Amino acid sequence: MPQTLSNEQLTAIANEYGSPVYVYHAEKIAEQYNKLKSAFSAHPTRFYYACKALTNVNILKYMKSLGACIDCVSISEVKLAQLAGYEPNEILYTPNCVDFNELLEVTTMGVRVNIDNLSILEQFGHKFGGSYPVCIRINPHIEAGGNYKISTGHIDSKFGISVHQQRHIARIVKTTGLHVQGVHIHTGSEIKDIGVFLRGLDVIFEIATHFPGLDYIDLGSGFKVPYKDDDQETDVVTMGKQVTQAVQDFEKEYNRSIELWFEPGKYLVSECGYFVVKTNVIKQTTATVFAGVNSGFNHLIRPMFYDAYHRITNISNPGGPNRIYTVVGNICETDTFAWDRVLNEVREGDFLVFHNAGAYGFEMSSNFNSRLKPAEVLVKDGKAQLIRRADVFEDLLRNQIL
Ligand SMILES: *Cc1c(COP(=O)(O)O)cnc(C)c1O
Repeated sequence: MPQTLSNEQLTAIANEYGSPVYVYHAEKIAEQYNKLKSAFSAHPTRFYYACKALTNVNILKYMKSLGACIDCVSISEVKLAQLAGYEPNEILYTPNCVDFNELLEVTTMGVRVNIDNLSILEQFGHKFGGSYPVCIRINPHIEAGGNYKISTGHIDSKFGISVHQQRHIARIVKTTGLHVQGVHIHTGSEIKDIGVFLRGLDVIFEIATHFPGLDYIDLGSGFKVPYKDDDQETDVVTMGKQVTQAVQDFEKEYNRSIELWFEPGKYLVSECGYFVVKTNVIKQTTATVFAGVNSGFNHLIRPMFYDAYHRITNISNPGGPNRIYTVVGNICETDTFAWDRVLNEVREGDFLVFHNAGAYGFEMSSNFNSRLKPAEVLVKDGKAQLIRRADVFEDLLRNQIL
């Protein structure tokens, strides 16, 4: 049975801590982590949790307790990871277009570095030569499919060093004596087709032959989770078999053991998350019935930003008759969460739940409209624990000079 929280648990939490509130279910995170771990158990594999999906320190600590390493994209994420107890060699820093000084700073911490730009690679080589190992992020120019905004391997993408610049990479490495320890690709989020990973692997193997001393290859993420009822999750079991087989075949050719690394974000924390909101108003117009809730894209931006679909349920009236609603927020900007959604009849005061809200939910929230950010609650062993207080009015003024 997949791990889920019940309507009663979610209602009790919303009553106790107020709404809107983000609720995370620890055992669901463990379930996802363990699925990945067992799918790749045939080969030495590490999972670097892409923490930008959800950075609450309590989540980072929990992830570490499961055995995960961590992937960070900003210097502050690296500091949060340190605070959560990760050892430097368990932290991978994968920045894009950041100041070189940030890279220098993480080298003083001993953190692993992933470089995605030739000019940075060259500067790094001049500075460190072979004394600080690096990973190189390659853009394989593979279409991950799906939403262009979350696809990073295509030709227009700012991420990675083009696979066509391999000759130039080799020149920099040779001239500066850089120690290339790994190669990395991340073709984007929500890859439906395992074939994309396998094509990415072929590109990586080709590149790898130019670097004799690799210890690992990093395939990034792209693990998909179901958002709609008929969505499919990435079949990690089949993927595990095919990818580990391909890597083991390559090892023979390459004559060296190679670890396999991944950077799942969404796969680990999306489904563990529930965003509970309260219905402020029901508004009948000539066109639709709006259910207006006490939140907006200031708290959950994915529907407006990515056209993302989040399943919504009415936990206060689960037996009510089906009605059709357009679910919107309360901010002064168009903030539609869902058009024409069939929900059990919604009454003013009912709690609605957005499912799969763990990844890029709270994390992308803002104070737009001078609205306060919601609290976060972690449920573990059946017990709810507040892991972030909701904003209070003073938080809006914290950095303002009065
Ligand atoms: C965002 C990101 C990930 C995680 O992507 P998900 O779709 O959340 O799994 C992994 N690696 C890198 C480099 C990223 O930027």
